[in-house]
Amino acid sequence: MNVIVGLEIHCQLDTKTKLFCGCSTDYRTDGPNTHVCPVCLGLPGSLPVLNRKAVEYALRVAKALHCTVPEESVFSRKNYFYPDLNKGFQITQYDKPLAVSGYLDIEGDEGEKRVRITRVHMEEDPGRLVHKGGADRPRYSLVDYNRAGIPLIEIVTEPDLRSPREARRFLNKLRATLEYLGVFDSEKEGSLRVDANISIEGSERVEIKNITSYKGVEKALTFEVTRQKNALRRGQKIVRETRHFVEARGVTTSARSKEMEQDYRYFPEPDLCPLRVADWVDGIVLPELPDARRQRFMDQYGLSLIHARTLTGDLRLAEFYEKVAGTDPALAATWVADTLLGELNYRDMSISSVPPDVFSGLLSLVRARVITDRNGVDVLRVLLDELKEKGTCESPEACAERLGLRALPADSAGGDDPVTKAAREALAENPRAVEDYRNGRKEALNFLVGQVMRKTRGCAKPADVNRVLASLLGEGA
Ligand code: ZN
Ligand code: MN
Repeated sequence: MNVIVGLEIHCQLDTKTKLFCGCSTDYRTDGPNTHVCPVCLGLPGSLPVLNRKAVEYALRVAKALHCTVPEESVFSRKNYFYPDLNKGFQITQYDKPLAVSGYLDIEGDEGEKRVRITRVHMEEDPGRLVHKGGADRPRYSLVDYNRAGIPLIEIVTEPDLRSPREARRFLNKLRATLEYLGVFDSEKEGSLRVDANISIEGSERVEIKNITSYKGVEKALTFEVTRQKNALRRGQKIVRETRHFVEARGVTTSARSKEMEQDYRYFPEPDLCPLRVADWVDGIVLPELPDARRQRFMDQYGLSLIHARTLTGDLRLAEFYEKVAGTDPALAATWVADTLLGELNYRDMSISSVPPDVFSGLLSLVRARVITDRNGVDVLRVLLDELKEKGTCESPEACAERLGLRALPADSAGGDDPVTKAAREALAENPRAVEDYRNGRKEALNFLVGQVMRKTRGCAKPADVNRVLASLLGEGA
């Protein structure tokens, strides 16, 4: 049973002002209905003026997605009633979109994969409803028009995705691409919303509306695949319908039947002239995009494909890595990709909350063997906890000192250094292991190394412990 998925993605363009008026788009920390004017409130007699920057941003996206920009595109009115849509219509593009026929290459389930883009068009965001009331159903709703008129692009893919995982990978790649282009900020709440069409080959398709998180898309689709497959196995038919994803429960539920396209009575927006911007595209110079940066990380820093892919999969992460790569890019790659990311994930923190100089400081301590790898991780954890709590942290050096995690010296002349002492104790306490080792069971050495590490609370460098033990065991032979 083949799974077929297509996505429609709404992204807020990160412009300073709205799509058709001068209201500021920086509305998230302000009170409701404070970023409004006659235009975005749709008062009679007001006229829209198109935001040039928003068009430029949309064209950057079109170019990066290898789309064709037709000679002319046209804004249309999509008519419907909903309280968040104060004008009674949304200005969008319909039969003549800004850009068509593009693609984005992703890491698919079976290797590199090209996902076709049907179209990219511009439209305005509606307002936002805030539902107030009881535990399971709102008693009343408030409306906030601060979001009304924020510029959006809607990106529609062909049904080329074959699994929920591919859908997630597509979204991650798209997000990275938009951020590299400097037109989108994924950290802004509500900046991306996804509708997903999903079907099992040969059956009707179901549309899941308005999924608002990246993880939500994969979860919603995974739920739908199981639901639809189970229904088909029971001999039931899949009905064509719209469903909502209930994030808290991880399920989709049937929603009102969708308006048919003809119900919207699209017609050309009489207050805006047709857009003729095809010539503009040639002049747009794109910045380095994720694939190019991935290749550069491999060439310039000698990274593996996996590390390069991870580190370039997010603009902020890629920039962070380049700041800390320093004199040992391989060490930095391992620490960022394999350790730091997991620790951030665990704490639900973003890379932006880690000052690069603090992390560089930690890397220098590890590199100079002032602390061991293992204790480096402990120091990192403490620093991240501090950052999460207070937004600042002590220096890695001070932290290592305070926790007594500085690496211990080994190989003093008289053999009275802490590592040699601990090694002598370990040998004296574990005669069986010593005997096993001498009888040729080399794995007994691992046990003894573990004992020494325990006695030194991880502050001995593993290489020192190995060498000291080998030499002590050699002496007695
Ligand atoms: Zn306005
Ligand atoms: Mn739309």
